[in-house]
Order: sequence, then C-alpha cells, then structure tokens
Amino acid sequence: MVKILDGKKLSGEIAVELTSKIAKLKIKPVLAIIQIGNNPESNSYIGRKKAYGEKIGAKVHHFALPNSISNNSLIKFIKELNERKDIHGIIVQLPIPKTLNKYEIMEAIDYKKDVDGLNSKNTNILYESPFENLDPKKIPKGLVPATAKGIVTLLKKNNIALVGKKVLVVGRSVLVGKPTALLLTAENATVTIAHKHTINLPKLAKENDIIISAAGKAGLIGKNCLRKGQVIIDVGTNAVAGPKTLEEVTKYKMVGDVDFEAAKKIVSAISPVPGGVGPMTVTSLFENLFEAYNLQK
Ligand code: NAP
Repeated sequence: MVKILDGKKLSGEIAVELTSKIAKLKIKPVLAIIQIGNNPESNSYIGRKKAYGEKIGAKVHHFALPNSISNNSLIKFIKELNERKDIHGIIVQLPIPKTLNKYEIMEAIDYKKDVDGLNSKNTNILYESPFENLDPKKIPKGLVPATAKGIVTLLKKNNIALVGKKVLVVGRSVLVGKPTALLLTAENATVTIAHKHTINLPKLAKENDIIISAAGKAGLIGKNCLRKGQVIIDVGTNAVAGPKTLEEVTKYKMVGDVDFEAAKKIVSAISPVPGGVGPMTVTSLFENLFEAYNLQK
C-alpha cells in the first residue's frame, strides 16, 4: 500500500520541539518580514508565517513598505535591521516589484539573519557541501531555502534512503529546484534536474527512484512518468477549477503537479497537496530562524 508522506503531521511534531526549545530562551527569536506592496498571495503567506510563529512562541514583525520604495531605501532599511540585536531573522517576501534589484536586496541581508537562504554567502556554503575533507569543527554553518530543507526533512523523517538513489528534480528555480538538487547531492543521491527544455520527461522520470516535482504545472507527472517503488514529492501548488457549487459558481481547489489518484495506485510513497511540502516549508523557515538565532550568539 502507498505511504502518504504527511507534511502536516510532521510539521506539527517539529512545532512541538521548536516550542519547547523556544520556551527555554530568555530572549525569544524575532523574525522580520518585509513586504513591498500588497500582493494578495504574499498577504496569505505572511499570515501563515505569523500564525506559525505565534504558535511556537517566536515573534514576527511585519513591515509593509510601499511599491514606490527605491532600491537604495530598501537596502538602507535592511541594513538597519541587520544592526538591530532584537531582530534575528529577515525575509523580504517575494515576489518584489521589477523596479527593485532582487540580487542586490538579497545581498544586503546579513547572511546570519538570511532565513530564506538566498544571500550568496549561504548559497555558496550549500554549493560547496558536502565538506568531506574538512575538520567538522571548521565546516561553515549556513541557512538553506525553507522549501528545499522541508523536502529533505520530509524524506529523511520518513526513512526514505537517499544515498546512491537516483533523484529527478523537476524545476531549476533559485528558491526550490536548485537548492533541493544541491541538498540531495550533499546527501549522496545522484541528482538530475529537469526543466522546460528537457526531452522525454516521462522516460527520464521512470528511470529515477525519487521524483521531486516543483514545476507549477497541474498534471505534469502522470501515469506515464511513474513506476512501482518510486517515491514522489509534489511541491507544485496549482489552483484548478473544482466542481461548481449549487449557485453555479466555480470553486477553485489546490492541486500539485502530480496526478495523485493515478500515482497512489503505482508508487510506494507520495506527499499530498495540500498537506505535504507546504506545511514543511513554514516549519523549516522557523527551524532556520532558530538556527539564525544561534548563529548570532
Ligand atoms: P518557478 O520559479 O516558476 O520555476 C518552475 C520551474 O519548473 C522552472 O525551472 C521551469 O523550467 C520548470 N517547469 C515548468 N514547466 C515545466 C514543464 N512542463 N516541464 C519541465 N519543467 C517545467 O517556480 P518555483 O518558485 O520553483 O515553484 C514551483 C512550484 O512549487 C510552484 O507551483 C509553486 O507554487 C510551488 N511552491 C510550493 C511551495 C510550498 O511550500 N508548497 C514553496 C515554493 C514553491 P524553466 O526553468 O525551463 O522555465
């Protein structure tokens, strides 16, 4: 029978651990979320982060800045937060307006407060790992993007073997695909990255033991991509039309990239959408905040 990789349950268990760790701290970890403009999706993500933070005893400050803010003013604001001893983590909620230089903004965040793991110091530590020939005491500590971290935690806590396994990561974004591929490479998996130019995705998918789909395309991973024994992590979140209500209004529902109903009859384990990677992302963000807090000691 297929095993459901339940991110909601695991996220709840990690929340209990984080709550007890934070309860022991005199000064509580504080996360600053900077929002530019008023993107409705960002509002919802920020709401979830605030609720989770409050649940575990951390603090979340939400700084809402106008769309008109200049690159320099935003960088100055971030640098002020870098200096503040009462702020332990900083997120600039993405997406940001195209008038701003995302790279420069990520670079402005002190890497020890960069809980989204997008500053080049953090991406470089991930790029260099595993540090196999280095004295363990000298291995630099960095922060990795929360979704990638959550995916690996979901696999490991479910005792899914990674060493020597063939893993296909569908998607090469800076936030999800690339860091996930690097983390799994550091775990000694053999990783292939697919994207829109990949030829014959179904054949490639079937050749892999684990498929991680982060494309944002409903139905991309169907029956033709799957075989017995595979483990599937569905990162995609896609709003598709659901059944019409009695008032003939179309309701939308959230699905992943994977045809879940077909997959669960074939593969050995799969993460659902919702309730898989989503909750793991929020949890991992707060694990990062806790790590950032310790890095700043
Ligand atoms: P993104 O920046 O749009 O990247 C999507 C990637 O998928 C790109 O590399 C793209 O290839 C590839 N792709 C798209 N269609 C494809 C296809 N038909 N075949 C092969 N590759 C294809 O998105 P993202 O930020 O990485 O997010 C990916 C998905 O995960 C989205 O649905 C997002 O909502 C979801 N997500 C969920 C969570 C969570 O916590 N659950 C967190 C983050 C993201 P190219 O590079 O060639 O364009």
